[in-house]
Amino acid sequence: MTAEIQTLLAEVRARSPRAIGRAISIVEDGDPAAGEILEALEHPSVEEAIVLGVTGPGGAGKSTLTQALITHYRAAGRRVGVVAIDPSSSVSGGALLGDRIRMMRHAVDEDVVIRSMATRGRTGGLCAAAGAAVRVMAYSGCGIVVLETVGVGQADLQVVGLADLTALVVAPGLGDDVQAMKAGLIELVDAIVVNKADQPGADAVAALMQALAEASGRKAYCTSAVDGRGVPELADGLVALYEALREGGRVAERRRNARYAEVIDWALELLRPEVVSWVEALHPRGGDPRALARAVIAKMRS
Ligand code: GDP
Repeated sequence: MTAEIQTLLAEVRARSPRAIGRAISIVEDGDPAAGEILEALEHPSVEEAIVLGVTGPGGAGKSTLTQALITHYRAAGRRVGVVAIDPSSSVSGGALLGDRIRMMRHAVDEDVVIRSMATRGRTGGLCAAAGAAVRVMAYSGCGIVVLETVGVGQADLQVVGLADLTALVVAPGLGDDVQAMKAGLIELVDAIVVNKADQPGADAVAALMQALAEASGRKAYCTSAVDGRGVPELADGLVALYEALREGGRVAERRRNARYAEVIDWALELLRPEVVSWVEALHPRGGDPRALARAVIAKMRS
């Protein structure tokens, strides 16, 4: 390991925000030093962190609720990380990322580590990058890392697979989304949260979600991220649920599956330059691009 990376890792352990940001960037960018960092992250302290997924349609209050959860966990003396997966910004959209971070009222707290990550405009794998960011935060002493996704698209669900347990956040006024969710999404999460309990219509949505949750053996919670009601129950309930899942061996199983997703991402990432050079060498001209791609793969294998 180079002296530079050794120093960087020591600074991450010492909770330097700058070092944490840099370590995540090195891995996210696929920098040559990424391997050294990833190897160092295979550390017992990283194993102990709880990775909490928060997902649901835009506008349900995920960001606000995440902030409320942070307040609760911070009051209990925990150091907290947040990896916010953001589909609306691109890698070059620094201003957008900045806006999102500014929204976080915990930005000045040194024991809250926040990193936004774009789904769009990236070449690298999202699971690989998000998984690494979670581990860097855990390595810096975060006992809880919240993995927050915006929306319920393919990329979001892939990222949900990296969490130890996941809460689906819905809110009154998002009727269509709630309908769409019934089909399958609930099976992928461990808890359903009806947020905006202070709003009209919340009781009806809560009753519907309670029934859905009961039918599928999930926990249901009702919160208001704005006035704080239900937040302690949710925060403590999720930690208790994590403990139960861990005791039942489910956390270990999920982490194995999450590791697969990361390995697949990295394999595709490492293969990319090879594929590019084969395509260039064979310089296919006209024809069905999919068939040409198959021909390239056949050539690579031979
Ligand atoms: P996200 O897109 O799911 O992350 O949602 P945001 O956290 O950005 O919240 C969307 C909007 O709903 C914002 O204007 C929030 O202030 C508001 N909001 C979030 N939680 C609550 C809540 O519990 N009650 C009310 N009344 N508004 C909320």
